[in-house]
Amino acid sequence: MKKILYKTIENYFTQKMSKGRGDFKRTIHASEILQLCPRKEMLQQKYKIKEPHKEALPFGLSITFAIGRAVEGKIRESLGNNLIGPETMCWNYQELNLQVEKYGFTFSGSMDAIFKYEDISVPIEIKSISPDQFDELVEPLIQHRFQCQTYLWLIKNNKKHQFVKTNGLSHDKCYIIYISKTAKNNPIKIFEIKLDIPYVNLMKEHLTQFKLYSETGGLPQRSCLTEKSKSAKKCMMCKHCFEEK
Ligand code: SF4
Repeated sequence: MKKILYKTIENYFTQKMSKGRGDFKRTIHASEILQLCPRKEMLQQKYKIKEPHKEALPFGLSITFAIGRAVEGKIRESLGNNLIGPETMCWNYQELNLQVEKYGFTFSGSMDAIFKYEDISVPIEIKSISPDQFDELVEPLIQHRFQCQTYLWLIKNNKKHQFVKTNGLSHDKCYIIYISKTAKNNPIKIFEIKLDIPYVNLMKEHLTQFKLYSETGGLPQRSCLTEKSKSAKKCMMCKHCFEEK
């Protein structure tokens, strides 16, 4: 009985996992901007190589994610009437997803919540992290900052979107809420995020490369020095990358 109980729960969590994107015309998600290698995206398109379908996540990790999602739901619930979104029932909250098509690629971001106060609405990103990481946090982690800044960029490029227009969604600032997975006091930290020069420069550089590729097929320079570089070892396009100029 104990084994069956364990198996039943395990099956529930492991079957629910991501099936991967399975596409070579990639949607680039806000969370990927910092680590993005435009050369890899272009090589995938050029050789029509799809993203691999991901295996189901291990049971332990699935539970961790499920806890994170549950906490996220509770934070949303705590926003009460100040929470807005395409669907505002907390138990079935539909995240606002915005997309921008550029040079044959799609940039996309889904915001965890939208907080409306008087006539201003701001996007909110919610992250639950380990107590150790939480205690050390004096500013948002760079990958999260870039993710939130991409939301602002997406809003800025979606001014005519019905929800953005109707709710006066801000592209000037957003907030990130960190929650400690265990804490006695002060379990949340909130940071305001605005667009800044490092982000704007990185996006400009990415877009310049995508534009160049769409117009001439030219690939950006290789950022990995050798096939043994850390990023190259993890890159599915490594072989093609080092065969191309
Ligand atoms: S090997 Fe490095 S430079 Fe080449 S595509 Fe992959 S990540 Fe980009």
